[in-house]
Amino acid sequence: MNKVHTCHWPGCDRRVPPARWGCRPHWFALPLPLRNRIWATYVPGQEVTKTPSAAYIAAAKEAQQWIAERELVVENKLPRGQQRLGDQ
Ligand SMILES: [Zn+2]
Repeated sequence: MNKVHTCHWPGCDRRVPPARWGCRPHWFALPLPLRNRIWATYVPGQEVTKTPSAAYIAAAKEAQQWIAERELVVENKLPRGQQRLGDQ
């Protein structure tokens, strides 16, 4: 079973390494405090055991809420002014 892991950004189906939250542009579209929380709560190997910590789930959920609140979901777009971030 080799399940394809994709970006957690709603509507984005770009493939990313299992340890990554999402693709580069979308990851960097998240505010820094949120990214820090996801990193801080991430436990190596959780994508294998499928048992991420409650803290990680909470952080990931917060990211989804942040995206939903800004209505960025529908058109799968990045926040204004950040389109070029992560392109280098
Ligand atoms: Zn993405």
